[in-house]
Parts: sequence; C-alpha cells; structure tokens
Amino acid sequence: MHTRALTLSVLACALALGACKRSEAPAAKPAEPATPAATAPAAPAATPAASAAPGGDDNLNAVLWVQTSAEYRAATETVYRAAADKLDTALKQKNWDALVTDERGNAATGLPPAVVMDVDETVLDNSPYQARLVRDGKEYDDVTWDAWVAEKKAKPLPGVVDFAKAATAKGVTVLYLSNRAEHLQAATLANLRAAGMPVKDDSVFLGLGTFVEGCEQNGSEKNCRRKLAGQKYRVLMQFGDQLGDFVQVVANTPAGRDDLLKQYHDWFGERWWMLPNPTYGSWEPALFNNAWDQPREARRASKREALNVAP
Ligand SMILES: [Mg+2]
Repeated sequence: MHTRALTLSVLACALALGACKRSEAPAAKPAEPATPAATAPAAPAATPAASAAPGGDDNLNAVLWVQTSAEYRAATETVYRAAADKLDTALKQKNWDALVTDERGNAATGLPPAVVMDVDETVLDNSPYQARLVRDGKEYDDVTWDAWVAEKKAKPLPGVVDFAKAATAKGVTVLYLSNRAEHLQAATLANLRAAGMPVKDDSVFLGLGTFVEGCEQNGSEKNCRRKLAGQKYRVLMQFGDQLGDFVQVVANTPAGRDDLLKQYHDWFGERWWMLPNPTYGSWEPALFNNAWDQPREARRASKREALNVAP
C-alpha cells in the first residue's frame, strides 16, 4: 500500500506501524492465546504457547471471537448506538468538533457536519481474510490483502449501518479515512455500498496517498487527511479501531500510547468512538519496538515478555 520512495526511517515506521498499514489493513499476527487458561484450564495451559509449533497461530482466538461471539456483536452495537444517541447534541453545539487543535487549521463553525470513519475493523469486517491467514499459517502481505479487497465481500460491523443511516438522515456526511491505498478506492466504495453504507460520492474516500496541499504525509499517518476533512467539514465524531485513527501517535510505545489516552480520555465516548479489534493494530508492534523486520518468533518472544504474569 505504500510508495517505494520511502526512506529507511519511514520504511521502519511503515513496517512498524505495519501498524501503519495494519492500522487499517489486517495484520500479520504472531500469536498468543491471550487467555489460554480461560479456555484450556487443564492442559499445559498457561504457557503452552511458549513451545507452540511454528505452524500455530496465536490469532486463532481473536479471529474466532470477532467471527462467532455474541460479545463482539454486542460491543460494536453498543458503540454505534451510543454514538447515534450523541449526534443531536453534537449537531446543536456549534463549537463541537472532534479534531485536535493541531489538526484543525481553520474554524469549524459554519461548516457542514461530517463524521470521519476509518474503514477496516471500524466499518468493514475483514475477519474472513484473517481467517485465511490463520488457516494457512501466513502473515499479512499486500498481495493477499489486495486480492481480498478486490473480492468486495467484507460485511459491515454490527450496528454501523444503522448509525450511518441515522447520521445521513440528519444531514451528516460520512467520510471514510482509510489506509487502504488509493488504487483500492473503487473496490472499497463498491464494498461499502454493497454493505449498505452511504457513499455520497468518490470524494468521501480519503485513502492512503491522498494529496493534501501544504501537509507532508509521513508513512500511513492520517493527520494530513484529517486536516483536509476539517477544511470542508465540522467533524462531529471520529470512529476507529486504532489510536492513530483519531490523533497522531508520536511515540508508538506503550508509554506514548498511554499518554495519549490520558490526554484525550474525555473525548472517548463523546467525540471519539473506539471499536474493539483484538486481531491486529499498532498496540502490537509497540510491544516489540515496532521492529517488524525481526523474525516472527523474535517478535513473539517480545510479546511474551510483555505479559503481566501473576506471581
Ligand atoms: Mg482500522
């Protein structure tokens, strides 16, 4: 999804944020029966993954949770229903805006209202693609990802279509700010339409590579595109499954991410709405210093070290 002219540092970022891209696209995942004991009490439970065969995939539980649990469906519906309930308040308060100060270069008052939505794992559920990776013992790559996008078979997250329709009925434009690359725009918009989501016109897709005058996009960071959205709209709400969907993550470390969460704590559940995604995201590379170039087992070892183990 990225351009080739990336410097090493940016490439590092790109890989790191594989997160970058994975903040959008499904990820390479290592593995971790996060709560093995929960489902496998008896056996060599607690630390069986330590010696898991290379063919094992720690994303098995996460993908299955998304695909089969009533809990996941209830969680996403809860988020979207709560957001819909807040829309009228957001519309009435003329100063209500969901962009951080650094990304709001112009006054928001008087602009038409919009909501900014990430796409993958926020609007569209790509768990079938990830299930393929689990089945095949593979990690994310652009070729298999592009092929999945071209199939246009992703389903909407539970609750999102009702929210989007309610927003549209109130005159709110739905913008899709995605790290899907621009060459995936047509397939993405077709998939969104097939899923029942409103697509006003092609301009509502702000994919990776969107040119923003006067703003240099670094890797797959979304800050420039948020600014672009803010030039035309008052952004009532943002929706995502990654911190980077809402604000620029300057330091993708556990501490850096915690700081952001503290700083914007009050905005979650009001202007910012986070969808659960246990299967991939920038939280993961933060655990191995964003070094995606390490062998899979090395990344996995770092993640195991991050476990908070009861003494
Ligand atoms: Mg996403």
